[in-house]
Formats: sequence, structure tokens, C-alpha cells
Amino acid sequence: MTTIRHHLSEQLLTAYAAGELPEAFNLVVATHVSLCDDCRARLETLDALGGALLETADATPMSEDSLAACLDRIDGLSQATSRSPMRRHGIFPAPLADYVGGGVNKVKWRNLGMGVKQAILPTGKDASARLLYIPGGQAVPDHGHRGLELTLVLQGAFRDETDRFGPGDIEIADEAMQHTPVAEHGEVCICLAATDAPLKFNAIIPRLAQPFLRI
Ligand SMILES: [Zn+2]
Repeated sequence: MTTIRHHLSEQLLTAYAAGELPEAFNLVVATHVSLCDDCRARLETLDALGGALLETADATPMSEDSLAACLDRIDGLSQATSRSPMRRHGIFPAPLADYVGGGVNKVKWRNLGMGVKQAILPTGKDASARLLYIPGGQAVPDHGHRGLELTLVLQGAFRDETDRFGPGDIEIADEAMQHTPVAEHGEVCICLAATDAPLKFNAIIPRLAQPFLRI
């Protein structure tokens, strides 16, 4: 495993721990955390903090039969529905494999031209998540952002104006950022990206195509 150099921000981890992120961002954060020991440790600290807050909160009584009802439901659960082990499928860690329904061979890719493909994943409407498939040497059109964009590398690597991003690395781009990610030569670069607003493409062709591609 290569060393992860680009991590989640404190702000994102805190929002994730508090359950405040849209589903698409949750998916990217959970996938990075499953690949990154550092961020998993930071998240555990934040979760412990949340637990401590819960312990000190005033208790609100539940209805009298709630404990018995809960125990009955636990008895009724079969072995099969209990938490299954981490189902990693090839380059897809468990959280992502659950969304795709398997590994890369299960992805329903759509061509964007120049060998670039994408697959939009089913998440809540407040933000969108997609898988990107970028052949070596190929660029994603130069674009800016109206909101926040998270890009997590699953295979291969890309470079942009800021740095190089390899497997497990996450790039956090905001409104102030303008970049042209280019996939490194060699292995096809596969990324998981999430945005909470449409991207702003500078070239006219991607801009015209945008409503159709739902980028
Ligand atoms: Zn990390």
C-alpha cells in the first residue's frame, strides 16, 4: 500500500462524526477512512468526544415497554442479518462496494468522450457522487467549483496544479480553486468524487454538455 499524503480536513471529519454531511460526502469520507489509519484514529477521537457529550446529556425517559420491545426484536433477528464482515471488492472498499453492488466490473459506466467515463451513484439529492474512469495521460476538463468537491483516488494517480494524488489520497477543492486534473501515464485512474453544486467548466463544449451529463 502506498503512503497516503492527502487527508480529510478537521472540518470534514467533525461534520462526518456529527452526522451533518450529505450522503454523497459521507460515502467519500467513509471510503477514505476505511483506507487510512490516520484518519480512522482521528475519527475515533472525535467519536469518543461525541460519546462523552452524550453521557453528560440529561436523559429523556422512553415509554415503559421500550426495553422489552427492543429485546424482542433482537431475539427475532436471524444470524444472516447480523453485521457482515468488510466486503472489499478489488479496489472498492466496503462502503463503496455496497453502493456499486460489487467491484469495478459491476459499475455502469457512461462515456464522456476521450476515453473518460463516469458512473453516477445513487445518493440523496443535496450532493452527488460519481465514479470517474480516466485513462493515463487524459485530462478532466479544466474547471472551477460552485461548492465543495471531494476527489478520492482508488487506482492509478492524477496530478493537477496543486500536487500529485495517488491511491487513498483525497483532494478537497472549493470555490476558490481552478484546476485541470490529468491522469498519470500507466494504470487507468479511477476516482470517487462528490460535489454539492454543479462544476463550472470554462470550455464551451463541456458547458453545453453539462446538463446532459449531469456533472
Ligand atoms: Zn487520511
